[in-house]
Amino acid sequence: MIDDRVAVDAGSLAMAASDLQREQIRDVVLTHAHLDHIAGLPMYIDDLFATTTEPVRIFATREVVEVLERDIFNWSVYPRFRELTNDYGPVMEYREFKPGCVFQAGHLRFRAVGVNHKVPSFGFIISDGSRSIALTGDTAETKEFWEAANTTPDLAALLVECAFPDELEELAMSSHHFTPRRLAAELKKCDAEVPVYVVNMKPMYRDRIVEQLGKTASRVQVIEPGRVYEW
Ligand SMILES: [Zn+2]
Repeated sequence: MIDDRVAVDAGSLAMAASDLQREQIRDVVLTHAHLDHIAGLPMYIDDLFATTTEPVRIFATREVVEVLERDIFNWSVYPRFRELTNDYGPVMEYREFKPGCVFQAGHLRFRAVGVNHKVPSFGFIISDGSRSIALTGDTAETKEFWEAANTTPDLAALLVECAFPDELEELAMSSHHFTPRRLAAELKKCDAEVPVYVVNMKPMYRDRIVEQLGKTASRVQVIEPGRVYEW
């Protein structure tokens, strides 16, 4: 969640949002359609259904919208919220973005950069007008993202994924994720001297990943859930 106003991905949005965030967040930007990135979205909209005075806007690529409509908001798994209204109007709408494009979500400007994951997936350069952060989303080794990050002069922080520990490198490679060792090599592509934070660790391997990152990628810090970071 950024500035309590915009969410990037929604894996635990319904469960983790504070009252203030639930009141304010109507813009949700999705990196890709894997369940751990969208699981909290249906219930988030459900929670707001009767009270929201504006629709929850889902920013996603055409492919992701198609998956959501076919597999989640399909009247079988959950209601097709885009067809429903409350007393104030629509409760959910899609805003499609295209690879490489720049779009506005809430008060933030997003640049979508294709990354290297098992399904079509995007990282983002996110700007509030005075500074930017770069977020990889789920990915393995990639190129365009680093070119975008390296040409962002006001870059203040980098958020990267590291899903698996080193001993699960084969699984990481087949599912297009990083391990600490491979992330350390990947970070050599980053020219900017900015703080690097690891997100999207598989929870059961968290301690192991933290330990290994400490040995091989000492410049990185691990994001602590629930903590507020300011850049
Ligand atoms: Zn994924």
